[in-house]
Amino acid sequence: MTDPFVIVGGDAAGMSAASKAKREDPDREVVVFEKGEWVSYAACGMPYYVKGEVDDLEDLVAVTPEEFREERDVDLRTNHEVVAIDPEAKTVTVEADGERFDQPYGDLLIATGARAVEPPFEGFDLEGVFTLRSMNEADAIEDYVDEREPRTAAIVGGGYVGVEMAEALVERGIDVSVFEMLPRILQPFGETTASTVADHLREQGVDLHLETAVEGFGGVDRVETVELEDDAVSADLVVVGVGVAPNVELAEEAGIDLGPTGAIATDEYGRTNYEDVYAAGDCAEDDHVVTGDPDHVPLALTANRAGRAIGTTVAGDPTPTGGTAGTAIVKAFDLGAARTGILEDDRAREAGFDPVSVTINAPTRPHYYPGATELTVTLVADGESGRVLGASVVGEDGVKRIDTVATAVHAELTVAELRNLDLAYAPPFSPVWDPILTAAKVLE
Ligand code: FAD
Repeated sequence: MTDPFVIVGGDAAGMSAASKAKREDPDREVVVFEKGEWVSYAACGMPYYVKGEVDDLEDLVAVTPEEFREERDVDLRTNHEVVAIDPEAKTVTVEADGERFDQPYGDLLIATGARAVEPPFEGFDLEGVFTLRSMNEADAIEDYVDEREPRTAAIVGGGYVGVEMAEALVERGIDVSVFEMLPRILQPFGETTASTVADHLREQGVDLHLETAVEGFGGVDRVETVELEDDAVSADLVVVGVGVAPNVELAEEAGIDLGPTGAIATDEYGRTNYEDVYAAGDCAEDDHVVTGDPDHVPLALTANRAGRAIGTTVAGDPTPTGGTAGTAIVKAFDLGAARTGILEDDRAREAGFDPVSVTINAPTRPHYYPGATELTVTLVADGESGRVLGASVVGEDGVKRIDTVATAVHAELTVAELRNLDLAYAPPFSPVWDPILTAAKVLE
């Protein structure tokens, strides 16, 4: 009998693979080891739990452990940590309840995700200083807000987690400061979108400090201040969101290759340098659809999609995991911001393109129809071939239009082909020329 399909990590990538493999090949044994107690949880929903829009942390769970075990016939073992992989012997070593045992595998998926980066800040261990990566951390932040009733909060890092948490904590009645080391927040979203969101955060009362490096946290037992180079700002609660690092140690120690980004290198099927060992999700690389180079874009759809594809492959139908365009979207109070593809001139040039771009403001509905707002679209293309390279959009409404450009990026459309797309139109939804088409007309 074939040894089981063993999966390390029970969230987006791991559980997508488990479910799909079981569906495609019900006779194959599928064993998932998850070191925590939560599985199949929507980490993306955690800021909205802290904000109070999601009542119960358990509402973020898509499929419960019982459903996996009883309805999907997955041998799911929570509180089981994989501590070693032996790709020659095709076993993993598992630790649970203080005991260790070896589990043989026929195929192995590493879906260990990523962890929050913790810079060596003085005072990181003070009570009231958090990162937000796991469900237990979301729970701890929520408890802290409920019990300690902080009046001031500092968010270190102006990425999408920082922006979402700024909104969540302002909604909880807390005075929020955001500290970003770089000249702008939302770095991957481009200058126009980032500065529009920054202005909006300030309008909403967020005290935004750009080009401001945090050096540590002060307080006795509990956090009281954020320490800057020549200043200290009061903070009863701190959330550090300065990016994530892929959990690759297990793979690295087993001789599994990492790629140029530091995440696990994979081929188009999610295979590592060992034939029967796959990696997916936040711990793994994906090829970028524009540059063709390996990239590390730790986002939920990429993880779910790659897990699902690997489950299909392992069940006997080789299926590519799909590349990444780095498509992302974020809400900041009354604004939405989204991006896809390559926006940065230097990155486009490195990949051999000659980037040209345009930024337009266009209404989301005809002038006579109620509810029109303005959408700002930045569209980037290769000046030589006309190929659409990427876009960023920001506005109160309609930022999901980024998906039209993401489709164009995947399909390698030119700006003229994008402009000629037959998109839906009726006054309640858009003007005749959708803002994306208008941007393409202007750039063409
Ligand atoms: P993870 O979700 O990190 O899961 C990995 C699992 O592996 C964990 O449960 C971990 O305990 C387990 N594990 C690790 N090592 C071991 C081991 N040795 N043995 C056993 N188990 C192990 N993405 C979006 O696309 N849109 C969003 O709006 C969005 N918002 C987010 C908001 C927040 C606050 C956070 C934290 C993330 C957000 N993301 C968002 C990112 C998204 O949640 C991740 O991309 C996704 O969870 C990745 O899934 P994964 O399965 O690869 O890894």
